[in-house]
Amino acid sequence: SPLPSLLTATHLSKYFGGIKAVDRASIEVPHGSITGLIGPNGAGKTTLFNLLANFTRPDSGEVIFDGNAIHHLPSHQIAQLGMVRTFQVARVLSRLSVMENMLLAAQQQTGENFWNVWFRPGKTARQERQQRELASEILESVGLSHMAQSYAGALSGGQRKLLEIARAMMVQPKLILLDEPAAGVNPTLINQICNHIQRWNQEGITFLIIEHNMDVIMSLCDRVWVLAEGRNLASGTPAEVQRNPAVLEAYLGQ
Ligand code: ATP
Repeated sequence: SPLPSLLTATHLSKYFGGIKAVDRASIEVPHGSITGLIGPNGAGKTTLFNLLANFTRPDSGEVIFDGNAIHHLPSHQIAQLGMVRTFQVARVLSRLSVMENMLLAAQQQTGENFWNVWFRPGKTARQERQQRELASEILESVGLSHMAQSYAGALSGGQRKLLEIARAMMVQPKLILLDEPAAGVNPTLINQICNHIQRWNQEGITFLIIEHNMDVIMSLCDRVWVLAEGRNLASGTPAEVQRNPAVLEAYLGQ
């Protein structure tokens, strides 16, 4: 039987002036899946991510996450419900240590006040210790613990991507939206990133992944949604989508 849906977006639209960036697009992410979102450049994938997490307000449509209508909620409340995203260009803070980036992540995603984060008036020693333990565990699991005290700016581009995903894990999310986890990453590290995604998925985390690297999509995803010109073009298993003539045509036409 089909897995129940964790995230269902229906008929989302976003216009920028005359451009229909996303045009009545729908998507469903089953509980426990690794779901792909692909499409030619400019298809509206990043805009759709922004609509799902309400970084951009949709002109129309609805988003249901884990049984809650979330399209009216601010992003930090969506993060508190368990849905977080990463960015195509990793947003790590170069002049803070890797550990500090991890500790700040939870508060940044869930929208806690910046000054509270620094002075931590409400945070007990026990909470602080738990956060450090969680951060250490996650860094250990992705092979970055030896860099914990280094400036994040000293990381390679690929390691920065890994840190960005590791930071998303700090809120112990149900669903992570990954924007191009393999872009600009060397092949060895791409493999490692894929392995971490699979491991976290086996631990119960659901993923929605935008990715241009078709090998990554083919090896990771249970199901793939294809956008073109802001609209749904196809969805199915990676193999079904890859041999769909309309999908091939959309990619060739770009
Ligand atoms: P890529 O694969 O190249 O990252 P994409 O599928 O993520 O592309 P989007 O970045 O969502 O596509 O862009 C969809 C369309 O919306 C494009 O035509 C883009 O130029 C336009 N667009 C996106 N954001 C804005 C904005 N803030 N203002 C105006 N137009 C925008």
